[in-house]
Amino acid sequence: MLYHNALSLSLILAIQHEAHRLGFDLCSFTPVGEAPHADFFDAWLAAGRAGEMTYLERHREKRRFPALLADPPSPPFETMVVLAVDYHQFDLPPEIRDDPSRGLIASYAWGGDYHEIIRPLLYELDVFIRNRTGRTTLGKCLVDTGPVLERDWAAAAGLGFTGKNCCTIRPSVGSWLFLAVLLIPESLPEGWTLHQTMKEQEALRRPATCGRCTRCLSACPTNAFVAPYELDPLRCISYWTIEARSIIPRELRPAFRNRIFGCDICQEVCPYNRRLGERTPRLAGLRAHHERIAPPLLEGFDPVHPYWLNQEAFHRQFARSPIKRAKRAGMLRNVCIALGNWGDPKTVPALAQALADPEPVARAHAAWALGCVLAKHSYAPAANLLTMALEVETDARVREEIYLALDRN
Ligand code: SF4
Ligand code: SF4
Repeated sequence: MLYHNALSLSLILAIQHEAHRLGFDLCSFTPVGEAPHADFFDAWLAAGRAGEMTYLERHREKRRFPALLADPPSPPFETMVVLAVDYHQFDLPPEIRDDPSRGLIASYAWGGDYHEIIRPLLYELDVFIRNRTGRTTLGKCLVDTGPVLERDWAAAAGLGFTGKNCCTIRPSVGSWLFLAVLLIPESLPEGWTLHQTMKEQEALRRPATCGRCTRCLSACPTNAFVAPYELDPLRCISYWTIEARSIIPRELRPAFRNRIFGCDICQEVCPYNRRLGERTPRLAGLRAHHERIAPPLLEGFDPVHPYWLNQEAFHRQFARSPIKRAKRAGMLRNVCIALGNWGDPKTVPALAQALADPEPVARAHAAWALGCVLAKHSYAPAANLLTMALEVETDARVREEIYLALDRN
């Protein structure tokens, strides 16, 4: 069958051209072998770094050898097409970023859900290749959803290098990149490394690195970097506000400041991301929705306003957004932390709602936030709310938070 043949250089160039036409900004190729840092990842898992992300424990063998991701009757995959979409739009002005009454959302979530937007493009790219090679089996299209160490493969393909902040960095573009991979059974031409496209040859000749820079490591507000290139998610704001469902460690909460979904700090400070200017993503679905950038926190509780912390409104508003991953209870928990860090008596009516929420995780963080208001302002209505809640609260973790909050008066 034709797909046993190597891809020709002209077809590789045609694939890159098609990828760009579809909306990808970068497209590189690498032979599929053993994942370069599979041992490191296994040790990372063994150290318990995955936390509640238990899905990372699955498919270890396939993660190590992505060729095995082929579903019979597909032959094993020979080539990984590594693609990236640049999602940078603009830097947040300081008056918004530092406004404690607004909740910051990581910039990757300002637009639509990148999984839903990028996956169909990968299917289209696979169709393009199949039409050219005559292959009848499907390639594997993955957008941050399969057991693939995308950043390692991006580096192997010459698409960028992995920075000390664990992000893929393309020096000319920065690190605001969604990575995607398409696994195909066609192989690369014999001696591929000698025949890569001109741009990739140039990147290989002058490999970029972080050099002596350590900005991201020192800027992280929760000291989440155990070492350069090694992140402990259990200290990372992104992990806690997006992936975790449980109660957030008390000692970390003040460092979240007004971040309610993800965190961009270790990318914002990176010199490779400086002076990028304003950009409009070519994929229209990724363009920012105004209300998802830094929504006023109290509006989430207000039926007159968007009311986005109400169950029904949350689903309606975020059904096609990465924000849905945090779920409504998680977002309410995150917003309570931001309200506590604001610490203004104005937050008390909203926190009263959260303290009566059916979700214990929300009640626990509402209690903590009321404790912050008490600590800052000795505001009697906050103490009254906590005392009344104690009379009816049955959840041990919430009761503990209420006692600790009252102690701060
Ligand atoms: Fe630290 Fe934020 Fe980067 Fe996480 S995302 S490592 S909290 S700077
Ligand atoms: Fe590398 Fe500096 Fe960027 Fe961190 S901030 S990823 S150390 S260049």
